[in-house]
Amino acid sequence: MRTLESPARSLVKSVTYRFLGSCATVVVVFIATHEWTISFGTGAMDFVLKIFLFFFHERLWNRINWGKKDIIPAVIWFTGLSGAGKTTIAQILLSRLRDAGLSTELLDGDVVRSIFKDSGFSRAERLRHLAGMGFVASELEKSGTFVIASFITPYEEARQLLRTSCKQFIEVYLSTPLAVCESRDPKGLYVKARAGEIQQFTGVSDVFEAPVNPEITIDTSSKSVDETVDLLVAELREKVPSLRQWL
Ligand code: ADP
Repeated sequence: MRTLESPARSLVKSVTYRFLGSCATVVVVFIATHEWTISFGTGAMDFVLKIFLFFFHERLWNRINWGKKDIIPAVIWFTGLSGAGKTTIAQILLSRLRDAGLSTELLDGDVVRSIFKDSGFSRAERLRHLAGMGFVASELEKSGTFVIASFITPYEEARQLLRTSCKQFIEVYLSTPLAVCESRDPKGLYVKARAGEIQQFTGVSDVFEAPVNPEITIDTSSKSVDETVDLLVAELREKVPSLRQWL
């Protein structure tokens, strides 16, 4: 997250910094002179004068961009079957990046579809839906925000389009096999799909094309959530240089 120091903050910092500095001055002058009056007099002058110096020095440096580095954001796009662990891991990653102070947004398939209720599940509708989400992700990325996206994203065509829409696109394939996802069935959707209550359900009655060139692939079936997050973080540190100092 980009922040600018307000003048009030600079002033309070100047006062607290100078208070500590002037205490040190009083002690040093006392050691040299053994005179409390001179020590406190010097400390008081030092306090007032250097508050102003510190304040103006701080405000001046706030205007100088030299030595400041833009944090290059990324779009971290989770793909995989329903129940593979996308939302679970994406939410933890969101907290980790936000706790580190990075501007980060999560686009979650379930949340988005709960808003855009009339988006269907045919190939054309899914492609349109994902293209729209890719546009949102790329706009956020342009504004300096890290984007975490969690969508089944079943087609290679869609993933390639997303890759070209974003500047730094990191495809994270949670390759948890169908049998494991189905045994987890966290939202009870597989049961409904098998019963024919849900049509065009990915993995059951609709295709999931395995990703061709994901940056990161993790099969969560024999891992705990913590182990998966640790593995993901290690991979992200390697593949996204701008994240190294934050994760
Ligand atoms: P998706 O978003 O891919 O549909 P969810 O995150 O909603 O999947 O559900 C995954 C389920 O699997 C959750 O109930 C989660 O607790 C469980 N789970 C078990 N092990 C893992 C793991 N290693 N990583 C992620 N989720 C896991």
